[in-house]
Amino acid sequence: MDGHIAFMPQIARLSAMAAQETDLCIVGGGPAGMMAGLLFARAGVQTVVLEKHADFLRDFRGDTVHPSTLRLFSELGLLDRLLARPHDKVHDVTGLIGGQSLELADLSHFDPRWNFIAMMPQWEFLDFVADEARLYPSFTLRMRTEANDLLWSGDRVVGVECATGDIRAKLVIAADGRRSILRGKAGLPVEDLGAPMDVFWFRIPKERTPGNDTTGIFDSGRIIAMIDRGDYWQCAYVFTKGEADAVRARGLDAFRADVARVAPMAAANVGAIQSWDDVKLLTVALDRLTTWDAPGLLVIGDAAHAMSPIGGVGINVAIQDAVAAANILAGPMAEGRDVTPLLRMVERRRRLAVRAIQGFQKMAQRRIIGRLLANPTGPVKPILAIRLLDRFPILRRLPAAFLGFGIRAEHVRSPDAGLRQPPFPSPPPD
Ligand SMILES: Cc1cc2nc3c(=O)[nH]c(=O)nc-3n(C[C@H](O)[C@H](O)[C@H](O)COP(=O)(O)OP(=O)(O)OC[C@H]3O[C@@H](n4cnc5c(N)ncnc54)[C@H](O)[C@@H]3O)c2cc1C
Repeated sequence: MDGHIAFMPQIARLSAMAAQETDLCIVGGGPAGMMAGLLFARAGVQTVVLEKHADFLRDFRGDTVHPSTLRLFSELGLLDRLLARPHDKVHDVTGLIGGQSLELADLSHFDPRWNFIAMMPQWEFLDFVADEARLYPSFTLRMRTEANDLLWSGDRVVGVECATGDIRAKLVIAADGRRSILRGKAGLPVEDLGAPMDVFWFRIPKERTPGNDTTGIFDSGRIIAMIDRGDYWQCAYVFTKGEADAVRARGLDAFRADVARVAPMAAANVGAIQSWDDVKLLTVALDRLTTWDAPGLLVIGDAAHAMSPIGGVGINVAIQDAVAAANILAGPMAEGRDVTPLLRMVERRRRLAVRAIQGFQKMAQRRIIGRLLANPTGPVKPILAIRLLDRFPILRRLPAAFLGFGIRAEHVRSPDAGLRQPPFPSPPPD
């Protein structure tokens, strides 16, 4: 009996280590990976998504679900269900520049179903997509599962290696974010566009207000983005890249005083930052792969093109990649075809959109953020383009369209194999 008991865990371990076979293995349960998982599973492709964390409750990503994403969920018939999750609607984007409140973008003229940014904590959003994807029997989400390496057969990727066992797949999608290890393992060349800043990320309590007061503040030598999450501000304190230790060395009191100076709405509660443990360092990257694929492998989202937080577009661009990938590949994969010859089409389809947004972010980094951070004492005045936006409401439609939809916005064209299971009946498209 003793021997039998001792033997059982070994059997369990051996079976856990056995390679799993699937059509598609997606590495990374962020916006790109989860959206791709939903769409490929919906098309009837056996899909396994691996996420190294135990849950989606990480706090270090933004909350902005843009019109392009809202429209996609409308096309899937899921918009009402998405918006049943906690969120605020932001119809206008404003900034506080040199103490002046300025209107920068107006989304209110879009279709009323998506004429706003849904400020939804990203864990809510990802949890929603996971719940919807789980309604497809072809979908599996494996949390706490980290891919450590790619599996190869000759020059073709045939799966991923995880501590819990290999997963063999006809296609691997690397959606493992801006610190992607898989793109490195595949040897895909990276073009670094540079980012002059990093971010300290922390919370300050606040009173609830009827609207959502999210704003960006630009002051002498300092930028802080204040994301309104109801009873607290999620703050992004922007500083010159590589200077985290210098900011810390000035001490917590100096840090709190700086936050209170730049963000007066949070001044009364800066004492909530009790130690540097409350302040997380986020490094900002702006880069892109020149090739997104290798035989058996496709890279999407931040793993293919790390986005800066400027414009709060990264989540939405990552989702557009997922939709483009599913539009091109899901149908053929569901028919059992080898999609290797089609992989290159995904990067071609998305190239212009990604380059346009990254070009805008690079320009804003150089012309606005870099200059402002390098000038800690000088007065801050809005540049002419910003003053014009504030003065002429019609001009605010341009940034709204660019940031809300980007260029070549995607529509859902991947097939629906009709596999969606109860408990929820498939809602009609809205
Ligand atoms: C400070 C900051 C603020 C931002 N604010 C905004 C904003 O307000 N709005 C916005 O739209 N964008 C914002 N962005 C950009 C946005 O976060 C990214 O562009 C977006 O999250 C990219 O989505 P993704 O799915 O490609 O990657 P990620 O969101 O990074 O997801 C990758 C996932 O893969 C998992 N993973 C990584 N490696 C492995 C592995 N080996 N095995 C298994 N799982 C793995 C990770 O745990 C993660 O869940 C911000 C970025 C920064 C740095």
